[in-house]
Amino acid sequence: MPEHRTLCPYCGVGCGLLVEVRDGAVTRVKGDPAHPANFGDVCAKAVHLPPVLRTADRLRYPMLRARRDAPLARAPWELALRHAGDRLREIVAAHGPDAVAFYASGQLTTEEYYVASKLAKGFLGTNNFDTNSRLCMASAAAGYARSLGADGPPAAYADFERADCFFLIGTNTADCHPIAFKRIRRRKLAAPAEVTVLVADPRWTETADLADLHLPLRPGSDVALLNAMLHVLWREDLLDRRFLAARTSGWEALRAVIARYPPERAASLTGLSPEIIVAAARSFGRARAALTLWAMGLNQSHAGTDKNTAVLNLHLATGQIGRPGAGPFSLTGQPNAMGGRETGGLAHLLPGYRAVADPAARAAVERHWGLPAGAISPRPGRSALEIFEGLAAGEVRAVWIMATNPAASMPDLDLVEKALRQADLVVVQDAYHPTETTRFADVLLPAAQWPEKDGVMTNSERRLTYLPKLVEPPGEALPDAEIVVRLARELGWKDAFPYEGAAEIFDEFAALTAGTPCDYAGASHERLRDEGPLQWPVPAPDHPGTARLYADGRFPTATGRARLVPVEHNEPVEPPDAAFPLTLTTGRVRDHWHTLTRTGKAPALAARTPEPVLEVNLHDARRAGLQDGDFAEITSRRGKAIAQCRVSAAIREGTCFLPFHWGRQAGFYKSANNLTLGARDPISQQPELKACAVRLRRLPEGGA
Ligand code: SF4
Repeated sequence: MPEHRTLCPYCGVGCGLLVEVRDGAVTRVKGDPAHPANFGDVCAKAVHLPPVLRTADRLRYPMLRARRDAPLARAPWELALRHAGDRLREIVAAHGPDAVAFYASGQLTTEEYYVASKLAKGFLGTNNFDTNSRLCMASAAAGYARSLGADGPPAAYADFERADCFFLIGTNTADCHPIAFKRIRRRKLAAPAEVTVLVADPRWTETADLADLHLPLRPGSDVALLNAMLHVLWREDLLDRRFLAARTSGWEALRAVIARYPPERAASLTGLSPEIIVAAARSFGRARAALTLWAMGLNQSHAGTDKNTAVLNLHLATGQIGRPGAGPFSLTGQPNAMGGRETGGLAHLLPGYRAVADPAARAAVERHWGLPAGAISPRPGRSALEIFEGLAAGEVRAVWIMATNPAASMPDLDLVEKALRQADLVVVQDAYHPTETTRFADVLLPAAQWPEKDGVMTNSERRLTYLPKLVEPPGEALPDAEIVVRLARELGWKDAFPYEGAAEIFDEFAALTAGTPCDYAGASHERLRDEGPLQWPVPAPDHPGTARLYADGRFPTATGRARLVPVEHNEPVEPPDAAFPLTLTTGRVRDHWHTLTRTGKAPALAARTPEPVLEVNLHDARRAGLQDGDFAEITSRRGKAIAQCRVSAAIREGTCFLPFHWGRQAGFYKSANNLTLGARDPISQQPELKACAVRLRRLPEGGA
């Protein structure tokens, strides 16, 4: 049976897969030994892809409701798109283009992101185009741009085999990026005395099992820890003075701030001992090559950009960047969250890491799209939460949602549901129905999913992989890009959306990246298919791609130097108090992905992890009268959830953990996002999903 090369549609590790297709259906998935992200390894989520592709709840044809209180009914594509197009025209005519918003997803291919962003920002005239990457990587993108001059993780997976110090902070890599973790573990086990692993996390996870040093810090205290580590390195003369002088600016201002973070002060802020902070700093500072990995634990915070900045300060001050084995390395959550950033899939961006606010950037994109000068609005659009707040307030009237389930994944679900109820028009493109979000749709459009369409995705190490179409989508489902192109033509922009397929869209986008930090003008579908995956920048067809950024010590800032930016510790927005004495942190479990629309339907995965489980520290459990296996009611200022408890010492006292995968469709009180809050980072606009105050109450047996 022939096997087809493609990419895993789940996490940002971006593992290459070999897929067997029989009688038009995917029958087997395994790792691709030739793919440089995983060399044949693969985790359970990918192995169990076949049963989730053809489920009874696949959306097979468009549906439409005539009125809000009418049921959804099957409609032909032409009618559904004409209805959606007419309603969009009416809303724009009555309220202006900013009354329309798009909310997309890191599940989309680069081509899909690009055409949708082009339609919204170039032709409909609104920058209200944001994505679920805002919940995921916005703080990392903002941190890189602030310190290094441009977004883009500088390191590569090949550095896993070269590093002698791994600093894992705000990431449970073993569960959330399992194949990346496997490479780290292999490196550690091959040279246990030579390689040090530091893990900073309020929970003791399987990631922490590998650690030489586990730092169970208080949620939200990452900046205090990172500043204190830099303080120790400065005090003990473990900085790279030559790199600091030649390649960075801002050391004096940074020094003045980190001088105020001796380990003793940081100990009181983080709950760690001064000794463990000093030990961690020395391990990092004495490393030949140090690699820091992080994910949502730093990003999902009202101070997420500052936390990223503090990591980058540490690496810049020690010269741990641009060398084999060394670098700051954010791990993306989704398979193409990176592609979203590259195509301008965030409300303040245009393709090629260009800023909406930059007149020269707008002019370049307008020329590429054949638009008159001034066609692109100079106002950055609404970020994810602002879209839903705008809908709830009546300032945004229409939302077009693609490949994501915000009524399960956003914080403060009551607000999101209110927003979707109050909207004049909700259009949802999805592969499945019902989901928590599709039940609010006025127009529901069936989308093809992996592997029913072709396109390109970028993984965490900037590597572009081509995904071929391997099977037909069910019923009348279409690729998201084709849906957008049909809509654009319906709206009258046929000439600007002439594409015959994804390859043409890719070429148009790749040409627009020429000369930008994420230059992939040298890539094409054909080249990626023939030569295999490539890391950007890849500026010419004969360019081999770039393993790591900033190897020459030059940064894309006005001075060519990286910027050291002083940042201060900030308490979480909602610290625990007498009424809500614990901090709830949310996250993923190994067997599930996002809001269960796929993994919840894989029998093996669902059987292994059927329900959300609340992790509680044994002292907190005793105070709440809870024992292992009891059902607890978890209450925050916004709502309630119910879950069975796992009581242990593996989580820091004062902190509890609940996975976020279960939405209200699985059971109203199973949803962690009944509890979370919409506070967000002022720069990245990423919400603080990792810390809100809760209290626990034991429920009678059975959770009633
Ligand atoms: Fe897919 Fe991520 Fe698992 Fe790799 S580690 S197989 S990309 S889910």
